[in-house]
Amino acid sequence: MPESPLELLDQIEASALSALGAVEAEDSLEAWRVAHLGRSSPLMGVFDRLGGLPKEERPAIGRRANEVKRLLESALAERAALLRQQALERTLLGERLDVTLPGRARPRGRLHISNQTLRQIYRIFAEMGFQVYRSRDVETDEYNFQLLNFPPHHPAREMQDSYYIDTGTERGDNPVLLRTHTSPGQIRAMRELAALNPDNPPAVRLILPGMCYRYEQISARYEIQFTQVEGLAIGEHITFGDLKGTINDFGRRVFGQGVRTRFRASHFPFTEPSAEVDFECFLCNGAGCPVCKYTGWLEIMGCGMVHPVVLQNGGYDPARYTGFAFGMGPERLTMLRHRIEDIRYFWANDLRFLEQF
Ligand SMILES: [Zn+2]
Repeated sequence: MPESPLELLDQIEASALSALGAVEAEDSLEAWRVAHLGRSSPLMGVFDRLGGLPKEERPAIGRRANEVKRLLESALAERAALLRQQALERTLLGERLDVTLPGRARPRGRLHISNQTLRQIYRIFAEMGFQVYRSRDVETDEYNFQLLNFPPHHPAREMQDSYYIDTGTERGDNPVLLRTHTSPGQIRAMRELAALNPDNPPAVRLILPGMCYRYEQISARYEIQFTQVEGLAIGEHITFGDLKGTINDFGRRVFGQGVRTRFRASHFPFTEPSAEVDFECFLCNGAGCPVCKYTGWLEIMGCGMVHPVVLQNGGYDPARYTGFAFGMGPERLTMLRHRIEDIRYFWANDLRFLEQF
């Protein structure tokens, strides 16, 4: 036991400071505070016993006890600050920013593959003097069918089961529908141009692209929406030879200089005569392969000379003007070129498909 209260205070101070030096974690500081500065600590025992000491000893011991108390309090504060600083340094060290890590790439958008194909088609026909003409997706029966020489109950309408729109009014023979092909744009464009000069309508050189809609049973080959692109040329003295020359030139620019084409007689209500155009298979050069189903040919488009009734409906006198039209599907062209086997990929918005192009 210490000789005197002053010696006891020296001991309390020394042991408390050494215990504090051994505290390594911030959350152990409170235990130290309770043990060395708390109500039951030896230091507080000295204060408690102060009253029982001889009167002449009390001031010196009281002063010394207060001094030890202040000293321990400030040592505690210092230790707490030190431990906090060390903890912070450990955290910073452990979570150090590694600037050599590659950043997260920001995904970049791009044109849809159908639009890429469309733009290539625009470029080719632009070089031949054709301009792009856009028209509405929502059409009337009159523009979608009747003016294109599909009268009501015409059997060719059966090929284009349509999405009709409930307009809330009785429209008789002229209901509203989502266009089933881009051809109504032919009438709109012709009428717009003919209105500029009804007696001498200007020549027409147009490409009509856009989304079309048909009520199809969806399968790998059929979708209810698809893009179409048509061409329309009207003027004086335009012949079937001009049509063949234009399409042959298009084929060479898309599939290569040596590609052959063949025209097969066909029927469309809005052209007469009409033809289907096959291009020599660009994969096997005509030898036969799975893509061309071993025929050596790929069906790419339909075409024909604009029907006199359609010219008339567009405001062009069929006795003076002739013209040709052709149409194709950018999706089909894309499927052939990239060997895509399911048309449903185009509008399914699956990035795994879209990012490949
Ligand atoms: Zn082939």
